[in-house]
Amino acid sequence: MFENLQDKLDRAFKVLKGQGSISEINVAETIKEIRKALLDADVNYKTAKAFTDEVKEKALGQNVLTSVSPGQLLTKIMNDELALLMGGTVTELELTGNPTVILIAGLNGAGKTTFSGKLANFLKTQKGKKPLLVAGDVYRPAAIDQLQVLGEQIGVPVYANLESKDPIAIAEEGVAEAKRNGNSVVIIDTAGRLAIDEALMTEISAVRDATKPHEILFVVDAMTGQDAVNTAKIFNERLDYTGVVLTKLDGDTRGGAALSIKSVVNKPIKFIGTGEKMEALDVFHPDRMASRILGMGDVISLVERAQQQFDEEKAAQLQKKIRKNKFDFNDFISQIQQIKKMGNMKDLMGMIPGAGKAMKDIEIEDDAFKPIEAIIHSMTPYERENPDVINQSRRQRIAKGAGTDLQEVNKLMKQFNDMRKVMKQFSNPAAAAKLMKNMP
Ligand code: GDP
Repeated sequence: MFENLQDKLDRAFKVLKGQGSISEINVAETIKEIRKALLDADVNYKTAKAFTDEVKEKALGQNVLTSVSPGQLLTKIMNDELALLMGGTVTELELTGNPTVILIAGLNGAGKTTFSGKLANFLKTQKGKKPLLVAGDVYRPAAIDQLQVLGEQIGVPVYANLESKDPIAIAEEGVAEAKRNGNSVVIIDTAGRLAIDEALMTEISAVRDATKPHEILFVVDAMTGQDAVNTAKIFNERLDYTGVVLTKLDGDTRGGAALSIKSVVNKPIKFIGTGEKMEALDVFHPDRMASRILGMGDVISLVERAQQQFDEEKAAQLQKKIRKNKFDFNDFISQIQQIKKMGNMKDLMGMIPGAGKAMKDIEIEDDAFKPIEAIIHSMTPYERENPDVINQSRRQRIAKGAGTDLQEVNKLMKQFNDMRKVMKQFSNPAAAAKLMKNMP
């Protein structure tokens, strides 16, 4: 699936191949291609625009990594953004009711009855639930038969009332039956229509009001593209459903619906149907779906590793400098900046077990590093790289520049030199071991 979109993205990324960094110019062309690809895949215009704007902004703000190409990096950014667009994380079913009532809604042929069976099977086999299926489609006797056949196949009881033409009464009877028999979940399959009409909406709203479902799942055929989004919108306005089920994602389906629905109705996609068999049901994972759309899982993990490595590369360089006793004030200040990036000092201390409570009443200033930074900033670049040249007269000048007194500069110089000594020792494994042994 999503073959179409994937081909287009491949082409879009080719534009970037061989470029050294992500800049406004080389990103613009790709972004245009991506937007076109999304529109072709039936993604709604507003969604596509918001999405590509976001990707562009993220791309331009990226660190240039030596080990990946801009195209690969952009793929990773797109993957993250796509997953976010489709809801970010998995949204679980609310199954705390006693019994939990799940109402299934949607147009005719969307796959409601098939999904009802699949869901019952899923809850029984994966969640250890005891479901009851309720045949609420009173207009199509074949639908009742279909549900009964499915129920038998998966070993789940089906409540039906062939005498009645009242879907509200049948739904209520179904819930009562579940209570009597100790079923923990009731799945109510409802009637659809070929198109949205007022009578259908009124009826299903009445079923909802009578049964107070914990979940209302809207089932929609992914093959209907932009129509799926429109139907989803109208059903949501009337029913305020709790989740979407996208069916028929096994065929050569365009991906537009999955991409747009979440952002248009702001309801999570909870399941996807990938075939006619009862097992062909997947919990919807936005991140997996994103990688599947892009079809570039390997690239994504490559970039993730490169991003981790980015910091590792820096750390390795620093290690080398320490070993050669070349640790200078530039490294010192970049360490301070690293620490500051991690959060405010008090929060950091709070993460240390036991420390949080002890620190409660102690004021730690967030800008505790400010005076130190001021002193370092008053040094010339040459002094920062060669701390050993900082003699008394230089110290006096630095103190003046930083608006502090000589004593403070001397204190910092002493701390810095002590630190260098300790660092040097720790960078030599044998010396470090000896040092540790001698510690109390
Ligand atoms: P309902 O009218 O909404 O109850 O729809 P049905 O459950 O009767 O499904 C309509 C048709 O779509 C049937 O032929 C199903 O077998 C088929 N169908 C349902 N879900 C899927 C799916 O995920 N993949 C495929 N390929 N077919 C499906």
